[in-house]
Amino acid sequence: MKPVKTLLSEQDMPKQWYNIQADLPTPLAPPYHPATMQIVTPEQMNVIFPMSLIEQEMSDKRWWEIPDEVLQILALWRPTPLQRAYNLEKALGTPAKIYFKNESVSPAGSHKPNTSVPQAYYNKKEGIKRIATETGAGQWGSAMSLATNMFGIECTVYMVRVSYDQKPYRKSMINTWGAEIFASPSTQTESGRKILAEDPDSPGSLGLAISEAVEDAAGRADTNYALGSVLNHVCMHQTIIGEEALRQFKAIGEKPDVVIGCIGGGSNFAGIAFPFLREKMAGMDVRVLAIEPASCPTVTKGVYAYDYGDMAHMAPIVMMHTLGHTFMPPSIHAGGLRYHGMAPTVSRVVEDGLVEARAITQLECFESGVLFARTEGIIPAPESTHAIRGAVEEALIAKEEGKEKTILFNLSGHGHFDMSSYDAYFAGKLHNYRYPQELVDEALKHLPKVG
Ligand SMILES: *Cc1c(COP(=O)(O)O)cnc(C)c1O
Repeated sequence: MKPVKTLLSEQDMPKQWYNIQADLPTPLAPPYHPATMQIVTPEQMNVIFPMSLIEQEMSDKRWWEIPDEVLQILALWRPTPLQRAYNLEKALGTPAKIYFKNESVSPAGSHKPNTSVPQAYYNKKEGIKRIATETGAGQWGSAMSLATNMFGIECTVYMVRVSYDQKPYRKSMINTWGAEIFASPSTQTESGRKILAEDPDSPGSLGLAISEAVEDAAGRADTNYALGSVLNHVCMHQTIIGEEALRQFKAIGEKPDVVIGCIGGGSNFAGIAFPFLREKMAGMDVRVLAIEPASCPTVTKGVYAYDYGDMAHMAPIVMMHTLGHTFMPPSIHAGGLRYHGMAPTVSRVVEDGLVEARAITQLECFESGVLFARTEGIIPAPESTHAIRGAVEEALIAKEEGKEKTILFNLSGHGHFDMSSYDAYFAGKLHNYRYPQELVDEALKHLPKVG
């Protein structure tokens, strides 16, 4: 039998996170305060974030120790397997080897607990009793409620209305882990009530749900806010994925030629890619590829500019690829990829030419996702089908060129709560949609003028 999984022992689990800010060819531009339009100070961020996370956010220290209490919880499902997709390779008739890092094995079903656990830990340590957060497709709300429950703090989740209706069992999961949840826009906050007054049937957006959660957290001293993607410390917590993968490739004496991840806010991609980018900057011959949906083409069609992180101008203004914070995305099924911005670190490495970006339409993604389910057995999250499609395209290029190639992609999560999306796909109800340039141009008129 050929080995399918490369496992690491708990003892060999990485004990440090990697901070790419230490090695960026161009340093990050500073974030600005949405009200004062001045550079944000750590004290201002402390209204909604604990000091230890702010320190991680703003530091260029290369390695950060993972606290033992955090490792102890991560070890419930980590290290995750590195798997070889033999059956997928065979179905494609490709000479390429396809490996994937299986982040779907976490209790919440995605990579997101890699950061919700440390975020809950640091908040608890600094005396915080409650977390307010948003969730798009429901993965982050699940991950945060799992983590807050483990550390004995409360959690309130604002879930984008369209996903709340599409994925009712995410709500059940969040309730099971002891958190409360509201569909966003909600009547709980000023930001939510304002949108509901304009449009009672608003499907909501991630930008709006963020506004609700930030408003909630800013209004209560015992409550902090937590974000599941985009921020530097979130991307750093995810690097445990790539650090494990480096160790696993070393164990089998191989090296990937291309590393692939899907990008919504950029965190799972950062997680698998940043450790390989460090090696690339040190001379490793490896391509790094980010895949986004054509319906929300933040990197390939947006601009690299300062923009608000949310609709209501409550989150900091950051330098990133953006479609404009007024972006109301179409109700596509890869809900976790519907964000107008991109992680500043991911945007930076794209700008510096270290990472290629590609936009793919959803029918191609679902086609490859279904092929993956039928060959490898795992039903992928709609978000993850973008990474799978990227890997399939690379494998088909290898076939055309008759060349061997080793491909690694991150399977960011499973799709067990997203079956309505698969139903829609099988019923022929999904259509390809490319976000029009005119709408991008219109939204870009509203960018803040700072920096
Ligand atoms: C949230 C999510 C994503 C997108 O978020 P990133 O920050 O870009 O990783 C991708 N896949 C899954 C399964 C998710 O839950």
